[in-house]
Formats: sequence, C-alpha cells, structure tokens
Amino acid sequence: MAERPYIVGNWKMNGTRAMLSEARAIDRAAQRYMKVEVALAPPFTLLHAVHREAEQIGVGAQDCHAEPDGAHTGDVSATMVADSGAKFVVLGHSERRGDHGESDALIASKVSAALEAGLRIILCCGESEATRDAGKAEDFVLDQLRAGLPKLEDASERITVAYEPIWAIGTGRTAEAADIAAMHHAIHGLLVETYGEEQAAGVRILYGGSVKPDNAREILSLSHVGGALVGGASLSAESFLGIVVAA
Ligand code: PEP
Repeated sequence: MAERPYIVGNWKMNGTRAMLSEARAIDRAAQRYMKVEVALAPPFTLLHAVHREAEQIGVGAQDCHAEPDGAHTGDVSATMVADSGAKFVVLGHSERRGDHGESDALIASKVSAALEAGLRIILCCGESEATRDAGKAEDFVLDQLRAGLPKLEDASERITVAYEPIWAIGTGRTAEAADIAAMHHAIHGLLVETYGEEQAAGVRILYGGSVKPDNAREILSLSHVGGALVGGASLSAESFLGIVVAA
C-alpha cells in the first residue's frame, strides 16, 4: 500500500443537490480513515456546495478551460474552479479526450492554466483496447504523459497521475494485476526522468477502471499504485467507502 493512498471519486455527469447527502456521509466517514486521502470530483454545479458541506475531504473539478476568462460560452475556467473552493482538477480524462476531441496539446494548456490558478492536477492517461492488443500501450501512455506533464520544481505537491485503460472504464473489466504493475512502473520511471528521484517518489499514480470494494485491496497493494480514481462506485457512499476501507 502507498504511504497515504489517495482515493478520488469522479461523479462524471451525475449528481444533483440530492447527492449532497452522499458527500456528507463520505466526509463524515473519511474522518475515521485519516491514513487515506479522500476526494470527490462532482460536476461543476455542485463544486461549491460539496466544498461547503465536506470539511475533511478534498474537492476538485473534472475539467477546466485553458483561458482564464473571456468569450467561451458554457465553459468554466481554472480561476472559477479555484474560486468555488475546489483544490484540484482532473484533466485529460478519456471521456473528455473522446467526447470533446481534446488533444494532448489542449490538455497541456489546461494543465498550465490550472497550475497558474493554484490548483493541483490529476492528469489522466490510458490506452484503448486496440492499442493494448497491438502491444503499444506503454509507448502510447508515456507519450500522453510526456505531452501533458509540466516543468515544475514541486511536482510532488501539485501533480497526481491517473492511469486508466479506456477499455476498463465503466465496463466492469479491470486490467490484470501484472499489467497494472508494469504500467505504473513505467510511469514512475518517466516521472523520475522528468522530476528526479525525490520529487517522483511523491507523485502518486492512481489506477482507474472499474475499481470496486472487492477488487480495491489487490489493486492498491501493487507497487507504484498510490490510490484509485473511481467512477461508478463513487456514486454511493457505501461502495465508495468500501474502497476507502480497503485502502
Ligand atoms: C473513471 O471514469 O475515471 C472511472 C475509473 O470510471 P469507473 O470506475 O466507473 O470505471
């Protein structure tokens, strides 16, 4: 297990104010598991409310625009995210890359904007099934990260990486333990190259893709797995807390 595992719930496009009771329940329980860092990424509409109601857990957004303000109807800037009380932003999720055609270059500019606004980032990467079957998963993921990782002195304070094989997201399929371990090892190697041994040691690498209470312990015990990014199972306090307890 990582020194202080980081368990982050990504609510995606789910949640109205009725879901605040789940956030409160997660927050209350998280106070009993201080060895685990717990966070939620609700939709923009709930950011401020979750921040206000949840004292113990971290709150972050699922995206931000690359510009600080301006004529971008429907978008939300990193400055606005920070102003809501959120402390981090998830960037480069495969659903943003797929649904909105986000390129590595755009994601890199969002990373800069988020850091500029004082936010921490969770930078997502992950290959499709076709890329894995072609034996190119590692090259693909490392290229995504080379494009997105910023130059920083204090990377361990500001950056988390989330490895999420696309074919494992929301499908109930998880990657083989050996494949997760190999990818996390390779990502750690890139972090060492980029930030040096000491900073890289503090950059947590989360695994995401159908993490549930019953598979969390095995996944989280793998070397260089520093926590989990959890989609579906974060929508109920009971299942999300099952993962927190397993960590
Ligand atoms: C995710 O979307 O980040 C995710 C990992 O989803 P799920 O846990 O539902 O696979």
